[in-house]
Amino acid sequence: MSIEQNLEKIKQTLPKKVTLVAVSKTKPISDLQEAYGAGQRIFGENKIQEMTQKWEVMPKDIQWHMIGHVQRNKVKYMAEFVSLVHGVDSFRLLKEIDKQAKKRNRVIDCLLQIHIAEENTKFGLDENEVNEISTSVEFHELKNIKVIGLMGMSTFTNDQEQIRREFKQLKSIYDSLKENLNSLSVLSMGMSGDYQMAIEEGSTMVRIGSSIFGARNSH
Ligand SMILES: *Cc1c(COP(=O)(O)O)cnc(C)c1O
Repeated sequence: MSIEQNLEKIKQTLPKKVTLVAVSKTKPISDLQEAYGAGQRIFGENKIQEMTQKWEVMPKDIQWHMIGHVQRNKVKYMAEFVSLVHGVDSFRLLKEIDKQAKKRNRVIDCLLQIHIAEENTKFGLDENEVNEISTSVEFHELKNIKVIGLMGMSTFTNDQEQIRREFKQLKSIYDSLKENLNSLSVLSMGMSGDYQMAIEEGSTMVRIGSSIFGARNSH
């Protein structure tokens, strides 16, 4: 099936309130152009340099989402154009995004990444760390970032019940954080293999790569 057909098929299964991020990491510009031609306007990349190269050549009405781990020293390269940073996993990173956004007179939307997977290799904050950040005075002083939600990745496993538990855990952290931070409206969870379950558990934004563009050779 073509990229256009894949997109069409996925969109048919998504409730209206769920936003589709087309994860185009490692894929050539021609693939992004095909998705763009089919109406897709939100793309997700996990490397700042690759995202910047694609931003330079693609139409300017695209929203670019950084879904990967962000190194603080690279924030400056995307600060001009990135529309949502999914993987914010420390207060120091949030401060750097704020600083770079301020230089460009922007407010950059961010998601705090929560560690829900049992594997200890994945990045992210735990519930205590999120509460610590969101209740700190310094956090509320940052005027050039806006935390609009949370992001999480489930464990890479075939155990469906484990994945569901992890999604439920993320949703419950989201709900309790929202009581104190009413700027929250986005819960980014679900990828090609698990997005339907993620939606059942309350996801409002799914990040789908291989089901749209086909399998990747790396990452
Ligand atoms: C690669 C990636 C995805 C998309 O994965 P697929 O299984 O190809 O849909 C989603 N989220 C993050 C953070 C990723 O790195």
